[in-house]
Amino acid sequence: MRGERERRGGGRGVNLTEAKARLTLHDLWRHFGFAGEPSKSCRCPFHEDRSASCSITADGALWNCFAGCGGGDAVDFYTLASGLPHAKALCAFIALAGGSPVASTPRPPRPKPADVDAAKAEQRQTWPLLESPFEHEHEMGTLAKLRYVSLEGVKLMAGRGLLWFAGWKDSPAWMVADGARVNAQSRRMDGKPWPGIGAKAQTLPGSRAAWPIGARESLPLHFVLLCEGGPDLIAAHHFIYAHGRAADTAAVAMLGAGNSIPADALPLFAGKRVRTLAHGSTT
Ligand SMILES: [Zn+2]
Repeated sequence: MRGERERRGGGRGVNLTEAKARLTLHDLWRHFGFAGEPSKSCRCPFHEDRSASCSITADGALWNCFAGCGGGDAVDFYTLASGLPHAKALCAFIALAGGSPVASTPRPPRPKPADVDAAKAEQRQTWPLLESPFEHEHEMGTLAKLRYVSLEGVKLMAGRGLLWFAGWKDSPAWMVADGARVNAQSRRMDGKPWPGIGAKAQTLPGSRAAWPIGARESLPLHFVLLCEGGPDLIAAHHFIYAHGRAADTAAVAMLGAGNSIPADALPLFAGKRVRTLAHGSTT
């Protein structure tokens, strides 16, 4: 192949048309190590496909996923499978067609953000019913004693929609969750660790664990106490109540998935005075 190319073009690489003629979807399917055989009706490699949503033309030139992953020619397929930005995918595709070692390592397809969101939403369907804390007055009292804070502080957090109660893994639990229900973490009412994981806090499946709890709810308030973890979120509300600052101060918690606030949550803090509570300073 190299000799032929050099005869024709003095050592230059193949162009895109030549690359497409050389690399079929059958080749790419094998290159990425996808399961099954590409055919007129086959399982789509880009989503969890229980039916046969994908179709590949017999000549291996065109593909389509009827479930919505996309479709097009071999370059489109390569771009989606590699997860590379389009320009880089184009170069890597041509290099692959030219026999260059670039991108010769198979790598699994990267799920699209939309797929990840859909999968997480499906997992969130397994959450227990989060019950209103105001139907659990007794539990709010228990929680205040457990965390050594005032009942009023607990009620302030409850009133802001960040505290819930539920049954989880056969135990009564208190839950820290945001109003949009994208992130929730459960702790046992008796303060003991969850069996199996040995940790006191368990993030519910499908949570977007990096989402700061209370960020959206803080919008109308000028001051924000940024803290780490559910217990500190309760403590922060206790201090807000104790200092008579409920009218202008919010508390927001990062639950430990990471120390940086996601980019789409940052605008929620615009124009606010944010004070960070060092972990442990309030317990
Ligand atoms: Zn698909």
